[in-house]
This record gives sequence, C-alpha cells and structure tokens, in this order.
Amino acid sequence: MKILVTGGAGFIGFHLCTKLLKQGHEVIVLDNLLTGTKDNIEELNKHNNFKFVYHDINKPFDYEVNQIYNLACPASPVYYQKDPIQTTTTNVLGTINVLKLAKKYKARVLQASTSEIYGDPLENPQKETYTGNVNTLGPRACYDEGKRCAETLCMDYLRQYKVDVKIVRIFNTYGPNMYENDGRVVSNFIVQALKNKNITIYGDGSQTRSFQYIDDLINGMTLMMESKNFVGPVNLGNPKEISIIKLAKIIIDLTNLNSDIEYKNLPEDDPKRRFPDISLARKMLNWEPEIQLKDGLLKTISYFKERI
Ligand code: UDP
Repeated sequence: MKILVTGGAGFIGFHLCTKLLKQGHEVIVLDNLLTGTKDNIEELNKHNNFKFVYHDINKPFDYEVNQIYNLACPASPVYYQKDPIQTTTTNVLGTINVLKLAKKYKARVLQASTSEIYGDPLENPQKETYTGNVNTLGPRACYDEGKRCAETLCMDYLRQYKVDVKIVRIFNTYGPNMYENDGRVVSNFIVQALKNKNITIYGDGSQTRSFQYIDDLINGMTLMMESKNFVGPVNLGNPKEISIIKLAKIIIDLTNLNSDIEYKNLPEDDPKRRFPDISLARKMLNWEPEIQLKDGLLKTISYFKERI
C-alpha cells in the first residue's frame, strides 16, 4: 500500500513509519521539521520504500495514496505555544488539505487527535462521549481547539463527501526517540536525572496523567487504520492514573541517581487529572497497552543514556 504520513519526522511518526516500512508499505513523509528531526529521516531513509518531502501541510500537496496518517503538529506544550497561530492553522488548514487529498484519491485518513480535546476534564476517567472543558482563551487553546476543529472537519468530510475517516485520541505517550529538549515530563525528568540536575516539578506534583509506551500506541493506531466500520473517536492511552510526583520518584529510583526535586510554577490551564477510559478500544480494536510503566521507562532511560 502507498501511505502518506504528515509529520512523519516526529517522535510518533518515526515509530509509525518504521513499522509501516517493515510491513512492506511504500511510505511518503511530509514534514516541515518544526519539531521533527533529520536524524529520524536519515534512519528512515535506509528503507528503499521511503520518501521524505520537506513540506508544510498548510500549503497544498498532491500524492496519490491509499492511506493518510495525519500527525503533523507540534504536540509538546512548550513547542505548540511557541507559534500558536501556526499551531491552529496546521490543525485547521493542514487538516483540510489532508481531507481534500483523501477525497480526491478515496484514501482513508487516520486523524491523530488528542486527550487535550478534553481540556481540564471535569469527568474522570475520560470517555469518548465526554465533550470536554477547554478554555478557548488560554495558551493551550491553539492546540486544544485546533485539534477539536480537526475532528469536526473529519466528521464533516465524512458526512458531506463520504471521506473514509478515523479518529484516535492519543493520551501521553513516551519512549525512545523523544527529543531531549522536548519539554514534556518524561523526557525532562529522565534527562534531568541523567545529567544530575534537579527534577523540575510544576505545581505541587499532585496533578495526574497516564503514560503509554510508544509501541502500544503504534499498535493501536495501525489496528484502528485497518478496522472496519469504525470511525471512532477512540481513546488510545494507558488507563493507569499516576501523579507527576510519583512519576518523578519512579524515574529517580530507576536511574539510581540522586537528583533533588525543584518545584516550579504550574503552567496556566494545566489539566489537574487526566487518564482514559479505554473500554471502547478494548471492545472495538481488542487493544490495550501491554508494556508496564517501569519496563517502558527503563527502555527510554537506556535510549537517553546512549544519547547524552
Ligand atoms: N511537568 C512537570 N515538569 C516538567 C514537565 C512537565 O511537572 O518538567 C508536568 C506538567 O505541568 C503537566 C505534566 O507534567 O502537569 C505533563 O506535562 P507534559 O508537558 O508532558 O504534557 P501534557 O500532558 O501537559 O500535555
């Protein structure tokens, strides 16, 4: 099959493309390298069936493909807030360009949505039926509302033009090939511990997330792409809730180093609790995360040890 991956030079894209290439597919990546890396592209370039195109999906493009994974958009709060207007346009104009292409070639689209569409949730755990609690005016809105609008566009292209769309809502994901300076909690804590720096906890660390290992996510995404008669949205995440302070302690234990904890201000609109209800993914995709947090963290720690 011929598959287009927008944002394929990023963390998730790299792992997804690696799997698709191993399965024998032809893969084209469009990426403007805002957060994607040349290292990832160099690695993927080792496969014969791989093609990289330096391109911003806000501008039109035309490739005849069977499937499209729409991953393009910075996903770390630090990066998506750097140029918030670009973040919104990538999710809106970029997604329209993806959907137009899908319409033209009757390609199937998997939209990478996010747990951020739930905002600072008032319902825990989050089910797909929960409509969320997003502050439209805050610094996270460019990403949250952008991704919400992208879901709307997918549903409208489905209703208006019968475009074959699928939506996954991705919860916090970690693993090898995250960037050292990504700014997200797992990479920050591991890199800080390995460099013997203080572990920076924002707020008092009582806020919660849940963390899924990258391989589990990629399995869920490809299962969803291959599923029949199921549009979603479907949550893909680890259902185990954990506080940020607990995560810090686990990483300090696993690295066996003695970093101190340093408390910093909690960013505006930082969700207090977030973890998914994954019964829909269990039922429709027969999917659930398999990799335990400690095992996944150990793999991620050894990746960063090599790099640092
Ligand atoms: N966080 C933290 N220290 C860091 C980075 C993040 O305490 O060095 C917190 C952040 O405030 C949030 C959680 O960890 O409550 C997850 O943040 P991340 O940026 O990884 O992703 P988010 O789920 O907020 O998009």
